[in-house]
Amino acid sequence: MTKLITGKTKLLGVIGYPVEHSLSPVMHNAALAQLVVRGSVSEREDIAHLGLDYVYLPFPIAPENLKIAIAGFAAIGIVGFNVTIPHKQAIIPLLSEITPIAQAIGAVNTVSRQNNQWVGTNTDIEGFIAPLQTTYQQDWSQKVAVILGNGGAARAVVAGCHQLGFAKIYVLGRNEQKLQAFCDSWSNPAIEENLQVGTWDELAKLIPQADLLVNTTPIGMYPKVDESPLSAAEIAQLPQGAIAYDLIYIPKPTQFLQLAEKQGAIVIDGLEMLVQQGVAALKIWLQQEIPVEVMRQALQNHLGLGR
Ligand code: NAP
Repeated sequence: MTKLITGKTKLLGVIGYPVEHSLSPVMHNAALAQLVVRGSVSEREDIAHLGLDYVYLPFPIAPENLKIAIAGFAAIGIVGFNVTIPHKQAIIPLLSEITPIAQAIGAVNTVSRQNNQWVGTNTDIEGFIAPLQTTYQQDWSQKVAVILGNGGAARAVVAGCHQLGFAKIYVLGRNEQKLQAFCDSWSNPAIEENLQVGTWDELAKLIPQADLLVNTTPIGMYPKVDESPLSAAEIAQLPQGAIAYDLIYIPKPTQFLQLAEKQGAIVIDGLEMLVQQGVAALKIWLQQEIPVEVMRQALQNHLGLGR
């Protein structure tokens, strides 16, 4: 059903540059339409009274226009917005407050207007840990996580593993300087304590210890769908009961997850993380129960994944 935009409709959105490939408008507008059109006309009016009449738009904002755009957002009363590449760090000095989670990661992906001030947080951690918590309830305190890649998403994964209580978190990358900078960049000493970084040469030693193996590199992402960060022989070294988690959601599953599944590993793809980080953002803005399945379904349909 088409969403009716009225004089009362409020605005949410996502900033990035470019932003046209963002999947956030698809899933957020599906949820917002569901909240507004649910029920009869009179119920719709009630919903409008409750203030659930929103649309979610993409805003392409070049880096040099970021400051003026955020000031403009305040002037036109935008309720909140998501932040994607290249603004996730650059937005920080423009905000009045940053949550400890966003501070730990050093990046903001969700901003809300509270008491006339911009407050930034990061819902990627919540997105990352949601499928681990809901599907594989377990005590992580004796477990080892091995993370491939040391970019932006790896930061949320490290913070998420720390939050779950992993005994050891290893991050493997290809550039020693970047790895050292990654290791030194945590303001939370408790994270640093459990974190070790190393180069890909350490894979052979670490894979047999990995209870959770996470790919945060773009290797295997569409269109290079035949690539995998690890060979079948390397993946075969995973211990029994290990979880292989790929942040990539196109293709679904990736070559990495297909190989891991063949070896008997439990596999998780990146789609649920994408859905759950969006759900967490919408909860912050609307303070409402969010129709998660509607968001998941909207993304799957958009990506041609069916059910
Ligand atoms: P990023 O900041 O660019 O980091 C990518 C990391 O992968 C870097 O450490 C990079 O190494 C490494 N890498 C890239 N190509 C490599 C190669 N050929 N061999 C070895 N290492 C390589 O990107 P990001 O934002 O972290 O995103 C990474 C992936 O996660 C993307 O596929 C993205 O779509 C996905 N993601 C998914 C979600 C979700 O909700 N599911 C959320 C965020 C990201 P160097 O540092 O040495 O260049």
